[in-house]
Amino acid sequence: MPDQQPPPLDPQRLLVLRALLVFTVFGCLFFAVLNLTRGVYPLAAIELVIAGFSAWLYYWIERTPVAQRWLMIYLVLFFGTMMVAIGTPSGTATIFVWVFLIPLIAHLLLGRVRGLAVSVVFLALAATLYFYRMHGHSELMEVIAIANVVICAFVITGLSYAYEAGREQTERRLQELASTDALTGLPNRGALEPILRHKQGEAARDASEFAVLSIDLDYFKAVNDEYGHQVGDRTLVVFAEILRQRLRASDVPCRWGGEEFQVLLSGTGRAGAMHIAEDIRNALAATEITAEDHCFRMTISVGVAVYPKDASDTSKLLDVADRRLYQAKTQGRNRVVGGSADGRPNSDRIGDSAVVDLQRLRG
Ligand code: GH3
Ligand code: MG
Ligand code: MG
Repeated sequence: MPDQQPPPLDPQRLLVLRALLVFTVFGCLFFAVLNLTRGVYPLAAIELVIAGFSAWLYYWIERTPVAQRWLMIYLVLFFGTMMVAIGTPSGTATIFVWVFLIPLIAHLLLGRVRGLAVSVVFLALAATLYFYRMHGHSELMEVIAIANVVICAFVITGLSYAYEAGREQTERRLQELASTDALTGLPNRGALEPILRHKQGEAARDASEFAVLSIDLDYFKAVNDEYGHQVGDRTLVVFAEILRQRLRASDVPCRWGGEEFQVLLSGTGRAGAMHIAEDIRNALAATEITAEDHCFRMTISVGVAVYPKDASDTSKLLDVADRRLYQAKTQGRNRVVGGSADGRPNSDRIGDSAVVDLQRLRG
């Protein structure tokens, strides 16, 4: 069974938590001293324990693989102590102002959904304690006094929720931009690498196969040199569109860099991968690319590698595919090199008229 560990804390939440831990250490020490002088020993003892725990957590939070769990433990302790302090009969009435921190802290540290859930639970608990503590104080039980507290709590909860929703949206957008190639709209190298690692884990568990195609456009530099960079760009966009059209939803095409592409073919063995690579090669060779009054055709060379027959980890698998791509180039381009069923490379010549148009381009 794989270990279902929660994801690590993101850097922004870690920063917020550390700031809060510093405030907690000094705040708890201050109130512990105050409560000791007032003779409220149980509360002072709890505050001292929390100060020590917070100081230790400040050190530990970056080192533990289960930071999310520690965060939850800390929040339950922090908010729980707040409730004990609020419920202590000898406590001051102004202790209730701390309650307004709950929605803010919960949203900043737990996000939109869990933050709202935790806020609702502890605000409801605080409201119950308010009525329990204040029912003897007629001025604090007046409608206007209660409305002030309730509306303020609602506003802070709503604003915290809206802030967090906006932040999460921006974060998603940034992640999307960072993982997408701006020219072709395909996933970029940074996006494919974790997908490949995940796929490897999945295939190892299910004892299934997957394949990688390393693709490079033939004589692409000639297009740039002859027709200009814009036409080169247009060529890349046309090829990306062919990849999108020819692949299944479960496959992942990626612009690896320059005029090189990688394709992850899920649940695909050697025969299937060779077939798809051929299909893509034929599709591009049959496409007339038109840009800025120029009309021309392009070809690709492809190296195929299959997990686990060709390599048992993704970086070696990419190496094998890359080596076969190099073989395809040295053997004349416009072809797919896939390796034999036993894993040894072969060099099936599948293309018909290799690179006629491009040889013309190269003069
Ligand atoms: P081969 O058949 O051996 O692959 O030759 P090639 O000309 O395709 O390969 P080479 O590596 O010599 O040239 C690749 C060129 O791709 C060089 C570089 O200027 C160009 N290039 C890289 N990225 C881009 C891009 O985003 N847009 C355009 N237009 N050109 C690019
Ligand atoms: Mg090339
Ligand atoms: Mg290249």
